[in-house]
Amino acid sequence: MGWDCKECGAEENPDESIECYSCLFLLFHPLKLVSADTGRESKKIKLKLAFGKKLLDEFAGEDAQFASEPQFRVFPNPLKQWVLETVQSVKNPTFINGSEPIEDQTVLHQGDIISIGSRRGNEDKMKLMVHVEG
Ligand SMILES: [Zn+2]
Repeated sequence: MGWDCKECGAEENPDESIECYSCLFLLFHPLKLVSADTGRESKKIKLKLAFGKKLLDEFAGEDAQFASEPQFRVFPNPLKQWVLETVQSVKNPTFINGSEPIEDQTVLHQGDIISIGSRRGNEDKMKLMVHVEG
């Protein structure tokens, strides 16, 4: 199948690619998570990805120890927004910008802060800033 580029008209770009092979037009912008503690960044995310302790340990600093495996998933929705989906079984829930743990799915915006905390409330562990490239 594939997709046709609306920018240059190139046909049959592979479905798993978000970049036109001909003109490098991007279907949507890749996502990065930037650690507030270490200043380090995740790799560029272009497709659905599950974040857990192991992956977070690479850039999020010591607080990655509070994460589960997996802790949350991110993926682009059909509106080309990035969505964070929580995992129900985690030990410490995921928060976005606030005091209530998020349920199910939330659209991410530039500059949002993702953190993990305890069931008692947000303790701002492992703060990660949402950075959408572009
Ligand atoms: Zn193109």
